Amino acid sequence: MSKLKQLHKYKALHRLKEEMEKDDSLPLKKGATKLVFGTGNTEAKILCIGEGPGFNEDKEGLPFVGQAGKLLDKLFPLAGLERKNVFITNIVHHRPPENRDPLPNEIEAYGKYLDRIIEIIKPEMIITLGRFSMAKFLPNVFISDVHGKKYEIKWNEKNIVVIPMYHPAASLRNGNVLALEKNDFYQLKEILSKMKEEKKNEVPEVEQNILI
Ligand code: URA
Repeated sequence: MSKLKQLHKYKALHRLKEEMEKDDSLPLKKGATKLVFGTGNTEAKILCIGEGPGFNEDKEGLPFVGQAGKLLDKLFPLAGLERKNVFITNIVHHRPPENRDPLPNEIEAYGKYLDRIIEIIKPEMIITLGRFSMAKFLPNVFISDVHGKKYEIKWNEKNIVVIPMYHPAASLRNGNVLALEKNDFYQLKEILSKMKEEKKNEVPEVEQNILI
């Protein structure tokens, strides 16, 4: 990836964040302190999507900085990952009152921006954290049936691998879920190394320089 293209992604996300900050039509804006746009490596091949900001995220304007985030930081290494390998955002980008579940109209309103984040990052893999982000890509499934599995979907003409994971907050509440989630992150390491192996056999993408 050329330096120019990298700068393009960074700038495009920065501009999108500014646009979101100015958008007074966003339904959860009034009750929130800060927009939690998302953070991480703008060149990441993996995009993680959670549910919505909680108390700490609302104060800091950053995703997964509370207890659930601390657990996520311990889960990533099981898959051979660190935060710097991923970009993290949420299904809604302002804190829902009392941390309630996001409503369908809220998911739709923020979804327009989330789609643009996906469009800019162009991830090869999306890890959904919890049932709300899972439902965006895998509707009509139960997380208890599909967690940790690899799904290949078409998203705006692009092939993306989706891995639905339990929300870390659910793992904090229930030890059985935590055991399942740990195992899913171990398995993710396998999935990632297989994907890397498969890529090795692909013809590398060559950027075109057209001389006229
Ligand atoms: N839970 C989420 O889903 N997102 C956050 O940013 C924090 C906690």
